[in-house]
Amino acid sequence: MKAVTRFAPSPTGYIHIGNLRSAIYPYLIAKQSNGTFILRIEDTDQARYVEGATELIEDTLQWIGLDWDEGPERGGANGPYYQTERKDIYVEWAKKLIAAGRAYADPTDSETVNKYREEANKNKVPFLYRNYRPDNTPEWQPGLPLRFKAQPKAYDYHDEVFGDLHMGPETQDDFILIKADGLPTYNFAHIVDDACMGVTHVLRGQEYLPSMGNYLALYEALGLERPKFVHLPHILAPSGNKKLGKRDGAKSAADYRKDGILPEAMLNFLACLGWNDGTEDEIYSKEDLIERFDVSRIQHAGARFDEQKLLWLNGQWIRRLFNEDAKALYARTADFWPEIAKNASDELKFRVFSIIYDRLKTLADLRTMTDYFFVSPTVDMDMLTDNKALKKLSEHEIVALLRQSIEKLREVTEWTPDNLQNALNELLAESEQKPATLFGLIRLSVSFAPFSPALHDTLSVIGCEATLARLNAVITTFNCAD
Ligand code: GLU
Repeated sequence: MKAVTRFAPSPTGYIHIGNLRSAIYPYLIAKQSNGTFILRIEDTDQARYVEGATELIEDTLQWIGLDWDEGPERGGANGPYYQTERKDIYVEWAKKLIAAGRAYADPTDSETVNKYREEANKNKVPFLYRNYRPDNTPEWQPGLPLRFKAQPKAYDYHDEVFGDLHMGPETQDDFILIKADGLPTYNFAHIVDDACMGVTHVLRGQEYLPSMGNYLALYEALGLERPKFVHLPHILAPSGNKKLGKRDGAKSAADYRKDGILPEAMLNFLACLGWNDGTEDEIYSKEDLIERFDVSRIQHAGARFDEQKLLWLNGQWIRRLFNEDAKALYARTADFWPEIAKNASDELKFRVFSIIYDRLKTLADLRTMTDYFFVSPTVDMDMLTDNKALKKLSEHEIVALLRQSIEKLREVTEWTPDNLQNALNELLAESEQKPATLFGLIRLSVSFAPFSPALHDTLSVIGCEATLARLNAVITTFNCAD
């Protein structure tokens, strides 16, 4: 059977990364059966609508590689895909419910509804509108809220993650189907749309579980077959038992993208938040996930958000993609170089990238780790004198060592990494220093950075002339300080 799934975000702001996971699983399920993945924009809550949010959603899905088969921009046989453009469809379905005596126009004003709610709160009983159902209801017309007429009863159903579940009659109410503004509520619209679009699997967050009684009642009242339900456990904050929220350091998908996280890593990370295939494997491409994803292996317990894991995976993906096609990965680094490299050639930047890629956690690390390849660093004496290995040497010894290094490096006729490696090894033997001391001194003198790639690689990219000039600059600074 071909699965039809959907991602149905509300355009209310940035894409929380938990939301993005709710797009990945339905995508994988659809692709596993050559089915259809639909993008539907649930924009019926006008008060929460944020300009530009739909574009951000589309952009993020494309970035992470979740191309929808039907939806905005792409069309399809079951459109429109914006709920605000489907008003007539909801009215048509609402009329079926009215005709069957399962929906009524509610003339009660909101102040009165609030009064009922307060009364229930005061009496410490759950607020159920069916207890206040008006006796005489007018004929429904746009401008009046339309409510479902509950006939509470017990329902059993199966959830693909949470198993066999039961909803008692106390959970069902006269919820609003169509609001006073003429737009449907989520509760009504999603069921109509899923039915019209032939959705076979409904995937969404577990926060929808308490409303299942109302939904099951509505499927029944509309004579609809239930789809498969797949409720996804919460993503938990890095510590404690809270759901991951904005304050827990988790950025939006767009921010992670700006910070140099690769979409391959993000997809891998989110797919594995609360799912594994029972092996010890950790790296999954989209193709691997399509092959190996299995709803029955989604964990019930919330999955903990761990940004370190995301960074680790990103580093793994940088390596993997570099080994697959270094030039193609390099082409994706354009936005991540330091300002100083703006006019540097691609040839130079590619060489830098080729020696540093395996130390990057994010592409944005290029911004903070590569300055000295493009400009001579300022001599920072504190950095030299505070260095643990160099502390043991006197100024005189440091200068002598720098002179000896210059002599040796000057002899390297062809400035290749291999030749440099040999020269550095000879220098090490001749100077009778420890590698940390000698190489630490040269490394710091040419970079004044806390970190650099392997020394022979670093020097080969910096070049002979610049390397010798930088070593000399340190000698000059020492001499001036005398
Ligand atoms: N619009 C709902 C949300 O953003 C979608 C829930 C669903 O997938 O049914 O939470």
